[in-house]
Amino acid sequence: MEDQASGNSEQHFDQSQHLSSASLVQRQNRILIADDESVTCRKLHGLLTGQGYEVVVTRNGTDAWECLQRDDTPLLAILDWMMPSISGVDICRRLRASKARPYVYAIILTAKDERPDLIKAMEAGADDYLSKPFDADELRVRLAAGWRVLALQDELRTKALHDDLTGLLNRGGILDIARREVAKTVRLGAPMAVVLADVDHFKDVNDVHGHDIGDAVLNETAQRFSAQLRDYDALGRYGGEEFLAVLPGCDATTAARVAERMRAALSDTVVTTRGQNIRVSASFGVAAVASALEPGVAELIAAADKALYRGKSSGRNRVEVAADGTRAQP
Ligand code: GH3
Ligand code: MG
Ligand code: MG
Repeated sequence: MEDQASGNSEQHFDQSQHLSSASLVQRQNRILIADDESVTCRKLHGLLTGQGYEVVVTRNGTDAWECLQRDDTPLLAILDWMMPSISGVDICRRLRASKARPYVYAIILTAKDERPDLIKAMEAGADDYLSKPFDADELRVRLAAGWRVLALQDELRTKALHDDLTGLLNRGGILDIARREVAKTVRLGAPMAVVLADVDHFKDVNDVHGHDIGDAVLNETAQRFSAQLRDYDALGRYGGEEFLAVLPGCDATTAARVAERMRAALSDTVVTTRGQNIRVSASFGVAAVASALEPGVAELIAAADKALYRGKSSGRNRVEVAADGTRAQP
């Protein structure tokens, strides 16, 4: 089997940009400290690294805000209220105004200790509030509460974007990724492609073997398709027996090779479930985008769908590529 990652068209793709849905919270234990007082910074840094956290320290509001804008932002921030340039409370306000970003749990740490101060900070969007000088145990348990909230929020988000049967991304989840990748293509000029797959005559599988076996076949199909993709590709269940793969860095030719592997992975080996051997195949439509064309995701998927339809009408169990990479022949 050829090594797809060695294809020329993929060389400039940043392989660190994984599309997998691994939980953000599980992937990091990083905390941002933003405080202009060196004594507090040192104390916090010592305590947090001692508890196994990775700590990012900034000494003013501008640097803190810049750090929180990055793709790999720490998800928990301990912000001093009074800092040069942007106050901790103003950072909370900004965080809550930018909904597209991952949720950052913000704890305001301040010498201000009157009740109206606490109310002002929490109204601005702080999740918690600690007065200086702080107690190490109190900080520890408040951080633990923060991670609990982040983990719960992350779990709900993950559930909302995944399909229960196959464990793949659901339609909303894969479309989110497709949108992000099309935007990146437009910005960076790297190619990307989508592959739309539809299981052939799947209604017959249900009719002959029953719905439960139909479910098992869908699950096996998902696993076989997944196994043909790179870590930084994404696969979703687009509809009942339809799957959508998003392939960053792939042009139409490379994507067609991937689709061919997916096709063979399904149809070359029978699916065995509950003692039944079931021969299953799927048809595939491939469409690619280059930066100059800049189609929307809907147009790209429509092009893949037209190509897929051609595959269905010309015999099924085949891969068809949209005519110019983005548009299927009418
Ligand atoms: P074609 O080759 O033209 O795609 O034929 P098809 O039979 O696959 O297409 P059709 O759209 O007629 O039927 C799709 C079937 O997929 C009907 C539907 O009941 C079944 N299906 C959709 N979602 C699920 C599911 O989650 N589980 C099971 N078991 N069946 C499903
Ligand atoms: Mg269908
Ligand atoms: Mg079908």
